[in-house]
Amino acid sequence: MAKTLRLILADQLTREIASLKDLDAERDVVLMAEVMEEATYVGHHKQKLVFLFAAMRAFAEELRGEGVTVDYVALDDPDNAGSLGGEVKRALERHGCDRLTLTEPGEWRVLEMMQDWREEFDVDVVIREDDRFLCSRARFEAWAHGRKGLRMEFFYREMRKETGLLMDGDAPEGGQWNYDVENRKSLPKGVTPPRRARFAPDATVREVMALVEARFPRNFGTLDHYGWGWTRAQALEALDAFVREALPRFGDYQDAMKAGEPFLFHGVVSPYLNAGLLTAREVCDAAVAAYEAGAAPLNAVEGFVRQILGWREYVRGVYWLKMPEYRDANALGAERKLPDLYWTAETDLNCLAQCVGDTRDHAYAHHIQRLMVLGNFALLGGFRPREVQDWYLLVYADAYEWVELPNVQGMALFADGGMLASKPYAASGAYIDRMSDYCKSCRYDVKAKTGDDACPFNYLYWDFLIRNEATLGRNPRLAMPYRNLSRMPRERVDEIRADAARFLDGLPATYEG
Ligand SMILES: Cc1cc2nc3c(=O)[nH]c(=O)nc-3n(C[C@H](O)[C@H](O)[C@H](O)COP(=O)(O)OP(=O)(O)OC[C@H]3O[C@@H](n4cnc5c(N)ncnc54)[C@H](O)[C@@H]3O)c2cc1C
Ligand code: SF4
Repeated sequence: MAKTLRLILADQLTREIASLKDLDAERDVVLMAEVMEEATYVGHHKQKLVFLFAAMRAFAEELRGEGVTVDYVALDDPDNAGSLGGEVKRALERHGCDRLTLTEPGEWRVLEMMQDWREEFDVDVVIREDDRFLCSRARFEAWAHGRKGLRMEFFYREMRKETGLLMDGDAPEGGQWNYDVENRKSLPKGVTPPRRARFAPDATVREVMALVEARFPRNFGTLDHYGWGWTRAQALEALDAFVREALPRFGDYQDAMKAGEPFLFHGVVSPYLNAGLLTAREVCDAAVAAYEAGAAPLNAVEGFVRQILGWREYVRGVYWLKMPEYRDANALGAERKLPDLYWTAETDLNCLAQCVGDTRDHAYAHHIQRLMVLGNFALLGGFRPREVQDWYLLVYADAYEWVELPNVQGMALFADGGMLASKPYAASGAYIDRMSDYCKSCRYDVKAKTGDDACPFNYLYWDFLIRNEATLGRNPRLAMPYRNLSRMPRERVDEIRADAARFLDGLPATYEG
């Protein structure tokens, strides 16, 4: 039998990963490497780097505990070649392996690179499918084939039937597929979100923190509030705490935002899921078990399962179906440079200051902050999709291109022209006011439409519709706002355009990222 080198990437930290399935602990070598190329292709948030390096080191120890030979190349190893390819080459030579086995990566860029390795290293290269997902790439392609629009809701229903999750025979549990009409409430006074499972760094994590501070001092974010777990046991503890304490009200307050409360009733499990410390199936099963035990209502559990079984699987399918062209799509011709406030949080728009601040402090913001504040502002402002993509890819601990890109291009920016969303998620200040307490302590007046004190989201919203009328004017889901626009006096339209131009031109945009 061939002596096999098995490469494990930073987001493949599970014993169940395809490339370890037939591991022969006596003969094979597992390679794990912290390399500058991956750590710097965007300037990742410091917490993301610490989380991944710490989790990689813990997983390597776990494998060693099983008697597996792990060749672990740390970032500060003086012989570190700096790239994945360089480390694979060195390890193949060092261990005299004649086969390289790996699991397909989560990014197009990395897969392209790996496809050259057979020729480059002159060994047998086996790239296995990543079967951690509930829907394979081939299954998604079959579903998408011949469809005009790829609406998530229809995909989700098929996944419910295929997995049997929340099914009552052939019918959806409770009679409906989706309970969102019961969700999306704002947070009433007196409702206090539960404390979340956060983990104090141990000696190994502190060592990684020092390494990251020394090597990446200028990267976005702070380590001051670091609380991510780095082992599977901790990830399970975080999941368990979520299911017990937050899941019952997840649906109700899924879209709510509150200053100083970054996590509210959300799962806060995406970094663990995406890195391999939790599986999608076990997270869904834990939520369904709470429902079956009467510990969480159906609207919460269905809403949560839909995020994972529906959205997460769906965006991955879209990514592989549409890459590489998907990255360059810019259907609305957005060409403005991303303003500095995304990097500094220095802005008098309180909603943006809060959401960038949470992102900087925790490498986390929940979905509505990402979509309806940060993404909405990028959409209305017409910021360049490639810069917005890079920002989202680097600021969150859970960010990988397969999940970030469809969310940015399709959901936040409508840059794919409506393949993913039937209309842009554009909203004025009224939405943010309804769903948050941000406007109460903002220097702008959310009710005012014109003048220096008017909430910028109000005139930016109309300016966006005016600017993009040629592309969006016939969208049936925008019929109402365009009808209102057609009734607006010319002077009002000119005023909106002037207010928006003055505001956007006045935003400093000097950062190179
Ligand atoms: C512009 C933008 C960029 C995003 N970038 C990422 C990213 O890089 N990585 C990432 O994991 N998620 C991304 N999301 C999706 C979502 O915001 C995060 O998954 C979620 O906020 C993670 O927090 P949570 O674990 O508390 O999620 P919860 O609200 O508790 O949801 C549970 C789980 O469902 C999954 N999920 C929910 N919504 C989505 C979605 N739209 N797409 C894919 N999975 C989803 C996640 O795995 C999440 O952990 C992005 C959303 C937007 C609008
Ligand atoms: S008033 Fe406008 S800018 Fe201020 S927090 Fe509300 S939505 Fe944001």
